[in-house]
Amino acid sequence: MADETNTTPEAPESTQAPEVHEFKAEMKQLLHLIIHSLYTHEEIFLRELISNASDALNKIRFRMLTDRDVVDADAEQRIDIKLDKNENTLVLTDTGVGMTKDDLLRRIGTVASSGTLEFVQELKKQDGPVDASMIGQFGVGFYSAFMVADTITVDTRHADKDSQGLRWTSDGGGSYTIEETDRTERGTTITLHLKEDKGEFAEEWRVKSIIRKYSNFVDFPVHVDGELVNTVDALWHKSKSDITDEQLTEFYKFVSNDTDEPLGHLQLSLEGVVSFKALLFIPRKAPRDMFQEDYKYGVHLYSSKVFIQDDAKNLLPDWCRFVKGVVDTEDLPLNVSREVTQNSPVLAKIRKILTGKILGLLEEWAEGEPEKFATFSKEFGPLFKSGIQFEFEHRDQMIDLFRFESSIKDKGEWTGFGAYADRMPSDQDKIYYVLADGREAALRNPNMEYFTANDMEVLLMTEPVDAFIMPGIPKYKDFDLVSIESSDLKLDKKKKGGLKKGETKKLVERFKDVLGDRVEDVRSSDRLVDSAVTLVTGTAGMDAQMERVMKMMDESFEGSKKVLEVNTAHPLIKNLSALRDVPGQEERIKEAIEQLYEGALLLEGSLDNPADFVRRMMAFMEQSTKPAPEEGAE
Ligand code: ADP
Ligand code: MG
Repeated sequence: MADETNTTPEAPESTQAPEVHEFKAEMKQLLHLIIHSLYTHEEIFLRELISNASDALNKIRFRMLTDRDVVDADAEQRIDIKLDKNENTLVLTDTGVGMTKDDLLRRIGTVASSGTLEFVQELKKQDGPVDASMIGQFGVGFYSAFMVADTITVDTRHADKDSQGLRWTSDGGGSYTIEETDRTERGTTITLHLKEDKGEFAEEWRVKSIIRKYSNFVDFPVHVDGELVNTVDALWHKSKSDITDEQLTEFYKFVSNDTDEPLGHLQLSLEGVVSFKALLFIPRKAPRDMFQEDYKYGVHLYSSKVFIQDDAKNLLPDWCRFVKGVVDTEDLPLNVSREVTQNSPVLAKIRKILTGKILGLLEEWAEGEPEKFATFSKEFGPLFKSGIQFEFEHRDQMIDLFRFESSIKDKGEWTGFGAYADRMPSDQDKIYYVLADGREAALRNPNMEYFTANDMEVLLMTEPVDAFIMPGIPKYKDFDLVSIESSDLKLDKKKKGGLKKGETKKLVERFKDVLGDRVEDVRSSDRLVDSAVTLVTGTAGMDAQMERVMKMMDESFEGSKKVLEVNTAHPLIKNLSALRDVPGQEERIKEAIEQLYEGALLLEGSLDNPADFVRRMMAFMEQSTKPAPEEGAE
């Protein structure tokens, strides 16, 4: 159905000679790559232009809530696309906020250089056709139009009453021009002179199908040659039964810019202390830039269907920063400012409810959809765990959802405290864990030997975040959580075959003499089976893994002293004990003790200088490779 109220303005007349501006070097590089690399999904340029138009419309709508003294205050807020097959052009007009000269110089002529550089690097990394769909994530969306156009003209007039009509033109080479025009209408018109072989983007059917695919849910009507193409309905206002899975997926792709389906979603409609509707999604993969400082939060805040903000941080706790979607509430005033949303009690209430609901969804997955929950743990587990520091209300619920590897499970299999507690024998009352760099390091830890020998399960905490959170979680339900490296492990099953009491005492004294105040104490060990010695955490100390993490953050961090445990059933230790009675062996015993101590440091990753260790090892090897005296020699 053709629409008479077509808002595409006539091309304005230039009223000034064009000023020529050079692009910066990195922009030239970006443009070169955009124009000359091969792309797949090049049609996303349209998504980017429509999203910019929609941003501009949101800005003017927001401003007009309090200030109607703008150019064309009564103009309909919409996007119009005109196609011309003969001219091979695509012209996109919005009645948005428009641009000032400064905007053209700073926002169109230059792009945030971090985004440009990042994008250029990403492009260089790939070989073969580059998937253009990621372009919008780098804040260089406008330039994607150079994939299909050889000249781009931007005609614009800003909403301020005293603004000037302006035209920006570039062929994507080294420069662009800006000139003044007599444009009177508020908003922006972008004219793409399509490349010869990109005529498809002047075809109605093609352009309409691109809009339905990528831009169906923009908040403003999009017309192509006068015909409305998108669904302007707010999906989150519909009832669950009226929304299809396809619509959900489509909407998710729209709000997230993801090309994949979401892992799951949550639709809420609540009335009570606060009233709001929400449609939230958990992605299948962690967003690439999730931990970057300028990461954009993905929940869009609406107030009675009017868009307020697209990166509302305080709608959800930080550990939910991967959640995408929409929250719409009637309890916020329409003209709410960003500052107000930051400390709004309404948002605080919504946040509390949403946090509970998201945890509820995760619990359902953990119970009934283990594969989904495993994907969640793999992609978001570390972020989720780190959230415990700030979460008081939902603490126990979160701890129950933490997942780790286990000494009795295969690599890559997850388990939690609850499942461990269910599995443990009735006479065990502690949950044991080890902090380590990885599964292999954890299993190699000498302190594991007792547990392996006695078939006792140990949780393998191998994510860096584990070292941070565990000191804050001393108990799960009634069970103490105990590191297998702590010095006061009370182990029941004593082992046999060790040195006699008196000999042990003398040998331990000898170790103490040699090591002095480098260790907190030396003791006979109950936990070692195959290893001769091990270092365990002292009374006031931190786990080895935790210390390593601290050192990574603070070079001057001094670890606390350790306790050295000695396995008196080990042949090497027995040899040392026997050697004590042989005269003249003082030095050798001392060297052996030094070597054992440094070997233990090396295993836990804290031997700073290996020079002495290697020197001693050479000396011992020299000894052990001496040919035996020939037998039968007279
Ligand atoms: P991003 O949208 O991530 O900022 P883009 O390259 O898509 O990056 O756009 C750059 C900037 O140009 C926008 O932030 C905006 O300031 C300006 N801009 C682009 N298109 C329009 C438009 N139609 N109306 C007003 N401003 C626009
Ligand atoms: Mg953009």
